Amino acid sequence: MAYLGKPAYTIAVLQKYDYIFKKQYGQNFLINEGVLEDITEGSGIREDDLVLEIGPGIGTMTQYLAEKAGKVVAVEIDKTLIPILEDTLSEYDNVILINDDILKVDITGIARKYNSGRPIKVVANLPYYITTPIVMGLLEGDAPIDSITVMVQKEVAERMRCGPGTKDYGALSLAVGYYANAKVILNVSPDCFIPQPKVGSAVIKLDLYDEPPVEVRDPSYMFKLIRAGFNMRRKTLVNALLGGSLNLSREGIEKALDKMELSRTIRGEALTLEQFASLSDILGE
Ligand code: SAM
Repeated sequence: MAYLGKPAYTIAVLQKYDYIFKKQYGQNFLINEGVLEDITEGSGIREDDLVLEIGPGIGTMTQYLAEKAGKVVAVEIDKTLIPILEDTLSEYDNVILINDDILKVDITGIARKYNSGRPIKVVANLPYYITTPIVMGLLEGDAPIDSITVMVQKEVAERMRCGPGTKDYGALSLAVGYYANAKVILNVSPDCFIPQPKVGSAVIKLDLYDEPPVEVRDPSYMFKLIRAGFNMRRKTLVNALLGGSLNLSREGIEKALDKMELSRTIRGEALTLEQFASLSDILGE
């Protein structure tokens, strides 16, 4: 039975183990049953799914996930949480704990070992200090992933789903747009966590596409262009691309922009995903 969503239980577990929060690991544990139910419900997990949970903490969301999914693989970096997790998850025989850094874990290997290579679902209340590398790694990696449902800073959720011309538009928005359909399923206030984060949070669900919405010959080259284009936001796209390590000439970039009927003084933040794809095909020729 999931019980850790109740604040009193979480506090009792923390006291029993004299647990001290580690700031460097972005630890904000959920203590709101409604939010936990909404995340597990919104993630669409079924009883035959394998769920990868990143950062189980003391196992609060893990309990909810284990009730619904076939199997949960939970990866936690903080080794002092492992004995606590073994205690709070002792009733569940469908949870596998791994004490490691998610950025170093072979997720393809997990899918192969525990799910016969079939696509897995990722669900997590992410540590905010590494949200972008985690999400980018999941999107760009070769692990079979069906969907990613994650709690992130509200501002990051906005960056993931905004379009050209907005202040939050950037490499993350374009990567999410290329790989997945993004939907915010819940806004969450700081008082749903212990300790409380300084910022508002949101749960975003990314349903990964079978086929990307735009065609591009070399996606990794396109993302190099995108990263260079946004690295120096205040520069024109031409100057930003010249400043990157892409070995491009001013003349080559200007010709490509002419061909696409775009101004030579345009900035990266004005280009859509389709336009970056065309630019990539032209410059990569
Ligand atoms: N899932 C728990 C909850 O909702 O109450 C805890 C979420 S807390 C925001 C983030 C968790 O990720 C912490 O338990 C933290 O120790 C863990 N963590 C931080 N960096 C990690 C990493 N690189 N790999 C795996 N876990 C990490």
